[in-house]
Amino acid sequence: MNYLEAVPPAERTAVVDLAAIRHNIRHLAELVKPARLMAVVKADAYGHGALEVARTAVDAGAAWLGTAHISEALALRTGGISAPLMAWLHTAESDFSAAVAANIDIGISGWELEAVVAAARELEVPARVHLKIDTGLGRNGCPEELWESFVGQALAYQEDGLLRVVGIFSHLAVADEPQRRETDAQLQKFRDAVAVAEDAGVDHEVRHIANTPAALSRPDSHFDMVRIGLGMYGLSPFPGQGAAELGLRPAMTLKTTIANCKAVPAGQGVSYGLHYKTAEPTTLALVPMGYADGVPRVATGGPVLVDGEVFPVVGRIAMDQMVIDLGRTGIAGTPESFVGKEAVLFGGEGAPSVDEWAAASGSINYEIITRISGRVTRSYVDSDAPAASGSATAAAGSVLP
Ligand SMILES: *Cc1c(COP(=O)(O)O)cnc(C)c1O
Repeated sequence: MNYLEAVPPAERTAVVDLAAIRHNIRHLAELVKPARLMAVVKADAYGHGALEVARTAVDAGAAWLGTAHISEALALRTGGISAPLMAWLHTAESDFSAAVAANIDIGISGWELEAVVAAARELEVPARVHLKIDTGLGRNGCPEELWESFVGQALAYQEDGLLRVVGIFSHLAVADEPQRRETDAQLQKFRDAVAVAEDAGVDHEVRHIANTPAALSRPDSHFDMVRIGLGMYGLSPFPGQGAAELGLRPAMTLKTTIANCKAVPAGQGVSYGLHYKTAEPTTLALVPMGYADGVPRVATGGPVLVDGEVFPVVGRIAMDQMVIDLGRTGIAGTPESFVGKEAVLFGGEGAPSVDEWAAASGSINYEIITRISGRVTRSYVDSDAPAASGSATAAAGSVLP
């Protein structure tokens, strides 16, 4: 039985298996306990659909949800999500008032403190903040030398009833390379910063620094909570180590339907630039996805599964389409024609992996799933739902706008 068959036909679909999300959350929660798990659903849940994934993650035991932007967190509240929710990347245009009003925790590194306090003062509602220390990544986070005074300012506002310091957090730079020593240094700086804050009187609920690779490889990074993105989607953060080895199940299958199939002679050029020429008479099949759908233009050679066989993309990937060479003749225009057959780029049984597309693109699996565009329909299945109940079919119909 193939649960993907429950998905209604769509021309270009990213099918998300909510059972895989649930499995990954439970697996990772077990691994990191007693630390709690924040499910990171920024960037539309890495392309999987923020609302569906957030609901599923909370059902499966995620204690918190995390997004980069306040606007992403607000969309979850509007969608009915009431779980603890935190956003950590802001600009002068960010709507801190809306965040405070919607009970969204705000990660702050410095300048945001005054803006958040102004919002809290106006609403007469204390803001919930997590103070971020830069332990070495060099992006957001309060520099070490300013930390004590930053903590002091936050505590003064807390005294005034304008905010509550809920958490202390940081972010790791090289956790995907477990042999590197910089993580040790970052964890030491984090422990020092927590001690400074505690000595100053911060009574935090959660200390958090680990992302997926740290959750998997550094138990000493778990503290009170881990922030899990990639692992929840069932992918491995480690080069050279697959998802299955880590006990994770990839949640997304990206597929379409072959749009054309035709016989060509030897020497036929394929796609813009004519960089591929057929060596002998063959059959070409047209895969109707391209870089406007989020398939990287540089990923020539990327694998496509059709009819139980994997074919590499030949020639340039264009905006809307790409071509595979079937390496055989006599099928175009016959019942064996590939027109209408399902073409799977990644995910599902026997199909290529996201990691193979990442390799073909010179990128990482994070980017491949995140960049799938709005032209691709998202649909949802639940491979654990008992087939007889019909609930897999029911779930399959839900499509986010
Ligand atoms: C995106 C993000 C995460 C999740 O990272 P993964 O490697 O996908 O688990 C965690 N923390 C912060 C601050 C992030 O921006």
